[in-house]
Amino acid sequence: MSTVIEMPEATTTARTAAETVASLTNVTKRYTNGVVALDGLSLTLARGEIIALLGPNGAGKSTAVKLMMGLSSPTLGEVRIFGADPRDTATRLRTGVMLQVGKAPEMLRVREHINIFRGYYPQPMAYADIIKAAGLEGIEERFFGQLSGGQKQRVLFGIALAGDPDLIFLDEPTVGLDIEARRAMWAQIRSLAARGKTVLLTTHYLEEADALAHRIIVINKGKVVCEGTPAEVKSIGAGAGNSGAQSGLKIIRCVTTLTAQHLEAISGVTHVELAGALTSVTSSQPEATLREMLALDLNLHSLEVQSPLLEDAFLALTSDR
Ligand code: ADP
Ligand code: MG
Repeated sequence: MSTVIEMPEATTTARTAAETVASLTNVTKRYTNGVVALDGLSLTLARGEIIALLGPNGAGKSTAVKLMMGLSSPTLGEVRIFGADPRDTATRLRTGVMLQVGKAPEMLRVREHINIFRGYYPQPMAYADIIKAAGLEGIEERFFGQLSGGQKQRVLFGIALAGDPDLIFLDEPTVGLDIEARRAMWAQIRSLAARGKTVLLTTHYLEEADALAHRIIVINKGKVVCEGTPAEVKSIGAGAGNSGAQSGLKIIRCVTTLTAQHLEAISGVTHVELAGALTSVTSSQPEATLREMLALDLNLHSLEVQSPLLEDAFLALTSDR
């Protein structure tokens, strides 16, 4: 049972100020190789919100997460978490993270992984709650090394919850998951937010941001391109994408052994993306593309064809103007 405390309208301003849990203010991050990953980026995260940081590969999403975790410091600007420095121990104890390239020792059991991480925190989440929230029932005694990719992702998600964090960073949490596992993780993320946790999720799937987020912040080349509710972002994107030039576009998703190089040579293909086990192919001649793909890879499976309305909107927002 959760309790929702209704606040009277008059206190809204004060509440908004009090409820900011994280902020980046005019943050620029220049790596030592000269790459400017974030370019004057500002954003705030409020209590109980699911925020999707959406952008193509290389946009700066992971860099923003690393700055908020205190794993990296800004070249310019300020990062505050719970009003403090992200490197403070007290701050770190209130945050949980699932990194994009997460790894864990293979020879430990799921139960051991979760309990080791629970041991790092003064007030960890109850073991049973983590198992339930991360969907780990039935695999608790398995070795990490024996798990499927999706199961490993769920363990890493469980580890992110170990300290019962108020702020959770999930960097591309559903990459490589099949549709069913992705939906299950979405449900788990929603239930965390319903308990007052703030979740910052990075993704390059507009579909995922749309399904989950209260607020979407679209970034590209280290800058905020647009920000709003999913409906607002989609309407802006649809307007921007209505040039008509790409109206026949479809996104073909499947599991295939065909390489990006093979796929890019197929007629109609405009874009190829490999995300874990899944391959996404954008095509302006989907039927022809699909025929060729099926002929070239007889074992192609888990096929899905989508209208790229959302992706189209997103591409329009993040393409060079
Ligand atoms: P995203 O998560 O949106 O794909 P990243 O934040 O990982 O983007 O990367 C943003 C840009 O910064 C990219 O051009 C990337 O190559 C570069 N970059 C990321 N990490 C480093 C690093 N440690 N050193 C140098 N360049 C980096
Ligand atoms: Mg990333």
